[in-house]
Amino acid sequence: MSLENRYSRLTTHDSQTMLLNKSEYLFNKAQKFIPGGVNSPARAFKSVGGVPVFFKKAKGSVITDEDGNEFIDYVGSWGPMILGHAFPPVVKAVQDASFNSTSFGAPTELEIEMAELVQQMVPNVERVRMVNSGTEACMSAVRVARGYTGKEKIIKFEGNYHGHGDAFLIKAGSGALTLGKPSSPGVTKGTAKDTLNADYNDLPSVEKLLKKNKGNVAAIILEPVAGNMGCIPPEPGFLEGLRKLCDEHETVLIFDEVMTGFRLARGGAQERFNIWADLVTFGKIIGGGLPVGAFGGKKEIMDVVAPVGPVYQAGTLSGNPLAMSAGLAQLGALEKYPEIYVDLEEKTEYLKKNLTNVLNKHELDYHMNQVGSMISLFFTKEKVRDFKGANSTDQQFFKQFFHEMLKRGIYLPPSPFESWFLANTLTYEMLDKTIAAADESIGVVKSAS
Ligand SMILES: *Cc1c(COP(=O)(O)O)cnc(C)c1O
Repeated sequence: MSLENRYSRLTTHDSQTMLLNKSEYLFNKAQKFIPGGVNSPARAFKSVGGVPVFFKKAKGSVITDEDGNEFIDYVGSWGPMILGHAFPPVVKAVQDASFNSTSFGAPTELEIEMAELVQQMVPNVERVRMVNSGTEACMSAVRVARGYTGKEKIIKFEGNYHGHGDAFLIKAGSGALTLGKPSSPGVTKGTAKDTLNADYNDLPSVEKLLKKNKGNVAAIILEPVAGNMGCIPPEPGFLEGLRKLCDEHETVLIFDEVMTGFRLARGGAQERFNIWADLVTFGKIIGGGLPVGAFGGKKEIMDVVAPVGPVYQAGTLSGNPLAMSAGLAQLGALEKYPEIYVDLEEKTEYLKKNLTNVLNKHELDYHMNQVGSMISLFFTKEKVRDFKGANSTDQQFFKQFFHEMLKRGIYLPPSPFESWFLANTLTYEMLDKTIAAADESIGVVKSAS
């Protein structure tokens, strides 16, 4: 008997005697080897409780767990799967590329094709550097902005997420103008000193910080549509105002389009709102599900990056041929068929409209935000336009709603503070199933509370 069979038999045996489903069994086992059993904390279901679902495969918008249960997927790997799981051109591109070696650590033509395609879709990206994650892209963009301006501080917004780089793990102090503090042990006070926190959709909070730190702010970084405190759109004038302030203060405007890039339009939020940043970061969709990030922008700024300029940035696997092939296949499809965006938005609006009817029927307090194929449902009376508004959501209600939806075969992001991501493989039949599930789920949760 091969070792593999032995282990799979043991697994089945154990899971039967312990009367666990496979996800429970695997989660127990995972925790013996991996911190918290997961390789990224949002996967651990901490905000909704219970055992995370372990998946084994997915196709289009249907995702299958280790026990063979099927779910309609609204997570899409947290964004990348805009064309659905196992999109055939991506699968084929990865297969084909792998036969020619999985990595060279030397330049390839694929990287030029990728850079050219990115520039075609996002015209202000005159130069682009590939990295391996959104985190890396944002860390690097900030370093470049500092190197370019010779200034040290950055302004970010409460509730925006730019990955786990030290500079981003700083939360606001007690007042808007007091010094920020690390939101994670392991981040130093020195780092906190250089990260200033403003409020989303609040230009005066930015103006105050710029004034107080005059001549010292290298960059303003933000999600042009927030997606990591649920979906929160920029209010009219907000992005315009930031663009103007950055010009006045010779500060680099960085749009973190890791989530919105290639999702809200071919040219991301920049195209959708017609506001153009100096530097842009990408991740998620750009890699077609492989680990890719990128940062780019004006030539003048990007020319400070090594080896042209003195700002160091590097990566053994950056521009990896499998990753580039997957990304090219996915971006290529989006570039070629822009009607996908129209289709996706119609589906998302359909979902919004029908969920609204359900919520009204149940006379529930809620606020729904939607931009393109990003949508969030907040259980709150407040209008959600910033971090404070997002936090007013009834988390207990969401928790129960999430599990009721899961029972009915709908896989939502396991947190009230994550946007749902639609894929164009969702059919109207799936959307109707989701709406019916929401109706039942809300009914159950309401009658239980
Ligand atoms: C996901 C995300 C990141 C981090 O990307 P990783 O690939 O997870 O490191 C950064 N910014 C935004 C807006 C994101 O949504």
